[in-house]
Amino acid sequence: MISGKTSLVGLLGQPVNHSLSPVIHNAAMQEMGLDWCYLAMPCESKNLNIVTKALLNLNCKGLNITIPHKQSALNICKTISPLAKKLGAVNTLIPNQEEGWTGDNTDVEGFLAPLKVKEWKGKKAIIIGCGGSARAVMAGLENLDIKDILVIGRNKNSLNCFLKDLTPQNLNLQKNKIHLEGLLSEDDQISNQIKKADLIINATPIGMSKENTQAGLSHEMPLGETIWQNLEAKTILYDLIYTPRPTAWLTLGAQKGCTPIDGLEMLIQQAAASLRLWSQTKDIPIDVMRAAAKKHLTS
Ligand code: NDP
Repeated sequence: MISGKTSLVGLLGQPVNHSLSPVIHNAAMQEMGLDWCYLAMPCESKNLNIVTKALLNLNCKGLNITIPHKQSALNICKTISPLAKKLGAVNTLIPNQEEGWTGDNTDVEGFLAPLKVKEWKGKKAIIIGCGGSARAVMAGLENLDIKDILVIGRNKNSLNCFLKDLTPQNLNLQKNKIHLEGLLSEDDQISNQIKKADLIINATPIGMSKENTQAGLSHEMPLGETIWQNLEAKTILYDLIYTPRPTAWLTLGAQKGCTPIDGLEMLIQQAAASLRLWSQTKDIPIDVMRAAAKKHLTS
């Protein structure tokens, strides 16, 4: 029940109206007995500074940041965690009345959660896409001790920018003896690389539900459909998308015997990690968050 004592937490981005975060967070906060309310708040880039300043003054207990502000939000932080600094991206803001906002990134923790059950040392991974979430994926793969990483981008400029930002020094690639390579999406070598990969991650929006297609589903696949003929059953496919569940790409992979992982667990685990930072509470009711998300997606 919202009362005069209820505090605000929420999400800033553009657009935010399809976000699952309010469903997940409000379920958890109710279970934890926190008198907080989580709202998805549309915010244009030009207003990010003034909106975050105002929310700090309104005693907002915490913010999530999504597209397109993850990188620009670094500029409004008084302090930035080493991980967010390394990635050049913030998805969580923690308030400090005297100091201002502290920026952190929980996407890496969310990404890693479904992969922790397996040994990845020495394996080969492919990341499709080189935007904001691909940066968190890179940091996660470094953490798993993956040996070879291939990043595939559609655009030379963004691919070069990604490879330049995530320098070996920056990500300890040299220390961990990781081989990092970038290829453009039309490169002939990709087909062969797919055959050899142990893990392939889709970090693009290709395959995400679209309002204008039949039943709201997209049948598109990253890199087009034909390239996946070479997929081997040993390969794990990880799609960061969680609507639809599964995507057309994960369905095709499952038909070829591959293990599919969708983006829902990442979403839940990054949300739980943000709530841990805001509430300073270790025990977050992750089962309640997962159940709320699944119920919402099937309703
Ligand atoms: P960005 O916009 O930062 O990056 C998207 C990347 O995909 C860019 O490299 C972009 O290329 C590429 N791309 C976009 N459209 C196409 C296309 N039609 N064909 C080929 N490449 C394309 O987005 P994010 O990295 O933040 O998000 C990517 C996906 O991951 C989204 O679907 C998002 O919902 C999902 N996600 C899921 C999370 C979860 O918790 N499960 C968390 C974060 C993201 P270019 O550089 O040329 O524009």
